[in-house]
Amino acid sequence: MNEKEMIEEIQRLKKEKNAVILAHNYQIPEVQDIADLVGDSLKLSQEASKTEADVVVFAGVHFMAESAKILSPDKKVLLPVYDAGCPMADMVDAESLRIFKKEYPDIAIVCYVNSSAEVKAESDICCTSSNALKIVKSLKKDKILFVPDQNLGSYIKEQVPEKEIILWEGYCITHHRVKSIEVSAARKGHPDALVLAHPECTKAVVEKADFVGSTAQIIEYAKQSAHKKFIIGTEMGVLHQLRKDNPDKKFYLISPALTCYNMKKTSLEDIYNALKSEQYEIKVEEEIRERAFFSLDQMLKTN
Ligand code: SF4
Repeated sequence: MNEKEMIEEIQRLKKEKNAVILAHNYQIPEVQDIADLVGDSLKLSQEASKTEADVVVFAGVHFMAESAKILSPDKKVLLPVYDAGCPMADMVDAESLRIFKKEYPDIAIVCYVNSSAEVKAESDICCTSSNALKIVKSLKKDKILFVPDQNLGSYIKEQVPEKEIILWEGYCITHHRVKSIEVSAARKGHPDALVLAHPECTKAVVEKADFVGSTAQIIEYAKQSAHKKFIIGTEMGVLHQLRKDNPDKKFYLISPALTCYNMKKTSLEDIYNALKSEQYEIKVEEEIRERAFFSLDQMLKTN
């Protein structure tokens, strides 16, 4: 089957199974182009829960498909590549949080959505990189454990000095490896460009940025800005959307290291196989799903 035939087959199967295809901004361009919705993980899960689809194909990583299942328990949620995971989400586990809570019973646990359903279930509230500051500020408790991203956590911590925030030592292996010296080099190469960075980057990188925001906020900022050139400090998959939205603007990546291997695992063929064989179904135990839903819902109510 050539690519054109495969795309036709995907469209046919999508209708036959009443499916919706979601693609994260970090997916390869071909996968983004075939998707019904492209965006960040939470927005996609929220949108999917509003559709009448019976099947959700989530081109992303495991925790994203889990979030879709948490919000849409009656839909069949499929992750096209079984081992597409997130190393950062795997850096924290539910058992460690239970131990922590026993030792510090009065602490509030804020968990970044880039985490497993079990971790969300042990947390008081979730947050995204867009709303983390608002969520942390909204909490009545002054002592907070922020999991799993130490970089996002430390970015928020600096802005809320009145609270005691303990940081879990997790990090996104993709954003964390960008070096501050690479920002300086990119600026030297493109002196008239603005640097837009994700808060999953280290403090040394974020401090050198002109704008710090989530993937969705970076896309919006570039669209609204009168500037014509941008140096991007988030996963390279976002360049596809940025260039589509802004054909008259130029985008450069801070570093080629901004490539998430797990996000690049899903091909068009995987989407086709997912629809054809209804694989790989994501299941979340109901008791965990309800508690994880509570943490997500607390966030949505605060948002
Ligand atoms: S970019 Fe980072 S946080 Fe996102 S899936 Fe890859 S490793 Fe995980």
